[in-house]
Amino acid sequence: MTGRRVVYRNEVSHRFARAELLRRWRAGEASREEVCDADFLLRTAAEYHGVPAGYPCPVCGAEDLRIVRWIHGEQLGRMAGTARSEEEIARIVATGKEATVHTVEVCPRCHWNHLLTAVTATT
Ligand SMILES: [Zn+2]
Repeated sequence: MTGRRVVYRNEVSHRFARAELLRRWRAGEASREEVCDADFLLRTAAEYHGVPAGYPCPVCGAEDLRIVRWIHGEQLGRMAGTARSEEEIARIVATGKEATVHTVEVCPRCHWNHLLTAVTATT
């Protein structure tokens, strides 16, 4: 495959907040409804645009945990706020646009979901 490579910068990790939420859930300080609140749109996006996480769901242990990428940004027009594959993101930023990519893990079984990272994608 040819074309320009995507450059990711300004990555913000949300793994600490994720670990803290899981800790609160395990300690009984957060209900399962609170931590497993993926809505229909998010679950559908994870199913059609997501990729396997490669590790089990931290809440229910399901093996089909998904990773889905959402793109945001003023330059994206109607593409803002949509779920995209890595290949699609590469094509979009190859046109000179800048996108903020939110990587979210979603469990199709228990509806656990959490933002993992936010990063700026450009070429
Ligand atoms: Zn789960």
